[in-house]
Amino acid sequence: RPTYDFVIAANRLPVDRAEGENGTEWKRSPGGLVTAMDSVMRGRDGAWVGWSGEPGEAPEPFDDSGMHLHPVALSAEEVRDYYEGFSNDTLWPIYHDVIVPATFHRRWWAAYRTVNQRFAEELAKVAAEGATVWVHDYQLQLVPAMLRKIRPDVRIGWFNHIPFPPVELFAQLPWRGHLIGGLLGADFLGFQREDDAWNFQRACRQLEGYETEGDTIRVEGRTVRAAGLPISIDFADLESLARDPEVQKRAEEIRESFGNPQVLMLGVDRLDYTKGIRHRLKAYGELLRDGEFTPPDVALIQIAVPSRERVEAYKTLKDEIELTVGHINGDYSTVEATAVRYLHQSFDRAEMAAMYQAADIMLVTPLRDGMNLVAKEYVTCRIHDDGALVLSEFTGAATELGDAYIHNPHDIQGLKNRIVQAIKDSPEERTRRMKRLRDAVRSHDVQKWAGEFLDALQAVPSDEAQKA
Ligand code: UDP
Repeated sequence: RPTYDFVIAANRLPVDRAEGENGTEWKRSPGGLVTAMDSVMRGRDGAWVGWSGEPGEAPEPFDDSGMHLHPVALSAEEVRDYYEGFSNDTLWPIYHDVIVPATFHRRWWAAYRTVNQRFAEELAKVAAEGATVWVHDYQLQLVPAMLRKIRPDVRIGWFNHIPFPPVELFAQLPWRGHLIGGLLGADFLGFQREDDAWNFQRACRQLEGYETEGDTIRVEGRTVRAAGLPISIDFADLESLARDPEVQKRAEEIRESFGNPQVLMLGVDRLDYTKGIRHRLKAYGELLRDGEFTPPDVALIQIAVPSRERVEAYKTLKDEIELTVGHINGDYSTVEATAVRYLHQSFDRAEMAAMYQAADIMLVTPLRDGMNLVAKEYVTCRIHDDGALVLSEFTGAATELGDAYIHNPHDIQGLKNRIVQAIKDSPEERTRRMKRLRDAVRSHDVQKWAGEFLDALQAVPSDEAQKA
């Protein structure tokens, strides 16, 4: 089998299976990571190792989207235990401030280990001598050490797309030492924020007794670096989509469908308890109750993309949100005007760009979020430097987007005040803020992020150099 100098590992391959006219076809999946890696893969003969999205036997390796794709098999039980269980019902809540309690099952952990080992073995087969391997995200935290054990010659980087928790929360994990040991198999560990990198370092030091210095950790004669490197979006590409006359026409249609309200607000989230959708609806409902504004002068579009519907906490959340939307519409809609237009669906990029353009106020209110790309996408689409981003301080994005209307979503009164301020500020003030927000995203786009990650990974002295 051929081997490659550059290999990516992620839970999912960058394609989804679709049944087309000619039988099975692979469709490129939308999403930030795929776009980001596109620019990295360009001009390289690289491979991607990941799950196809369907349980059962893995398809043979194939070429698609200019990459060599190497599927890893997951059985239906492994999908349940490694993915829905350990990744999404153990790690996800612990890494997001335990907004809901985490569930611990030894069987889930066993499956997580088994699947990580399978990924490491597949990577060891696919990586050429001295290759660079970039491992992504919380589903594959054991892969770096497992891979290093089989292939000490490869250079290993890992990037965490979600937060890394404070040591007090991380300490709850019965398998915390194994996770730290797994990650320390890497040469370079990238996190969304400096704070996440520090959390990791502190966990290494306090829970496992490692020595640290600056942003490095000493591991059996090697040095591992852990640093903050916030992910971004393809600014140029999205902005050019926003400039498309079709998209602009669509944005006008959306506004007209609400009778051209004075203030159109927008929320775009996966239906996840980390996103603060309930807090947002509470603030919005209270603003209507207070008579601060009334439909049809104001309206809210809330997109809630279906997510993880087999995990219990997500089912409960969906019910709660739909109940609240029902209450708000029952109390404040009129025969002609709807207070909240709730969409439990997902939309393509062009429709998203149109919605971002249609919205005067973007509400991003997570209780904890690794980055929140929606915030960056909204400002990118504001090609006239208008509109306002109301942004939670608990997102990674808030580190770079300090010119947004920053708030603490737990403070409902504070959130209401920020929304009112965003509406009442002068157009000049909103433009001043928006220009700076757009500059921040433009000057640190996803291509820059990927380049910085790979530079940082190459800059760590290799194992041999460290031994010499
Ligand atoms: N998104 C989409 N269609 C939708 C809603 C969202 O394509 O109907 C995309 C959105 O444009 C963004 C991503 O989903 O790129 C969500 O990323 P984010 O970092 O905001 O949240 P995550 O879902 O990764 O927690």
